[in-house]
Amino acid sequence: MDSNQCSFCGKKRNQVQMLISGNNGFICEECIEQAHGIVHEQNDSYEASAATSMEDLKKPIEIKKFLDQYVIGQDQAKKQLSVAVYNHYKRLLHAQEENRDVEIEKSNVIMIGETGTGKTLLAKSIAKELNVPFCIVDATILTEAGYVGEDVESILSRLLMVADFDVEKAEKGIVFIDEIDKIARKSDNASITRDVSGEGVQQGLLKLLEGSIVNVPPQGGRKHPDQKYIQVNTQNILFIAGGAFDGIKEIIERRLNKQAIGFSAEKLNKAQEEEYILSQLNAIDLRKFGLIPELLGRFPIITYLDKLDKKTMIKIMTEPKNSIVNQFVELFKMDGVELKFTKDGLEAIVEETIEKGLGARGLRGTTEKVLEDYMFNIGAHKKVSISRKNIKF
Ligand code: ADP
Repeated sequence: MDSNQCSFCGKKRNQVQMLISGNNGFICEECIEQAHGIVHEQNDSYEASAATSMEDLKKPIEIKKFLDQYVIGQDQAKKQLSVAVYNHYKRLLHAQEENRDVEIEKSNVIMIGETGTGKTLLAKSIAKELNVPFCIVDATILTEAGYVGEDVESILSRLLMVADFDVEKAEKGIVFIDEIDKIARKSDNASITRDVSGEGVQQGLLKLLEGSIVNVPPQGGRKHPDQKYIQVNTQNILFIAGGAFDGIKEIIERRLNKQAIGFSAEKLNKAQEEEYILSQLNAIDLRKFGLIPELLGRFPIITYLDKLDKKTMIKIMTEPKNSIVNQFVELFKMDGVELKFTKDGLEAIVEETIEKGLGARGLRGTTEKVLEDYMFNIGAHKKVSISRKNIKF
């Protein structure tokens, strides 16, 4: 190899400012700049859109692997969600094909699980992996048109905002509707207790879920007669709904007992029994809980998240890429302090958090509290070790 010229453009050493040597060649500064530009362009276009061909589309196994980096446990939900989003984006590719005989319908997903078990985190991580716009809306702020609160269309305003008002991009996004259980009507017997507001919002949501062209006020909030609307087609937007559905276990239990399925005959401990019951969850139970059948019809995939036990919570503290432990270790390191948590220290933090009933969401707060004095006096010690005996709550 000629040590006096760039292996890419062939310019001589005296024609360039810099020639960097590699294993088998040389590169000049101009070619580096150019290559850098190409890499950037590729990255940008990757960031801007969902997959455009089957080859680009990540397979469910790959999606789950990605989720494993951020979300601990919840294997069943991860699997179902990976398949659901894979099929969803496959469907979008299919819709672009000419001469289709079969129209594939959309499958939105509903996730049931206690607070802080990772519902939002799952939806958020999926959107991140797929590079599509993502927004979270709380169903409790929505009201029927004409009442105080936000119209359902405001959901799409948010999606438009995160997509920088690129309508085409927003139309392939993912919306996470949190606390869907809070808009359940109070009884499934509509003639006895009519909870108009909950049912009204569900009816409103139907319009979005069904796949229609919706007039969206760009600023969100309420519709206004003088406002200019942006038209958004919701046909390809994937909706993932989440909720705690307090009391759903009892509803399933009642149904199972009625069907005389003897799950109690098998010897299961309490946690196993609960898991078994929840695994039997279906649309009938959600209907009993107070979701209207039309809405349920739009959420054909129902999945549930496991309750987080102590072992899982410790994993959440330590294992994800940006785990709480790693974050604080990094923070202390910036002051030259080595921070460590002993096993019993982690256990103590987890036990305190479980007591608060906030799920994994409470872990950060508890850790902050434990480290408060150390952070205030940062620099006083070169090493800090958090164990059960030096924690006080
Ligand atoms: P939910 O939507 O179920 O109420 P979130 O997904 O918002 O709960 O979880 C709150 C926080 O708790 C997350 O940001 C994350 O830090 C942590 N967390 C919850 N569940 C998990 C999990 N399974 N794996 C990793 N972290 C989790």
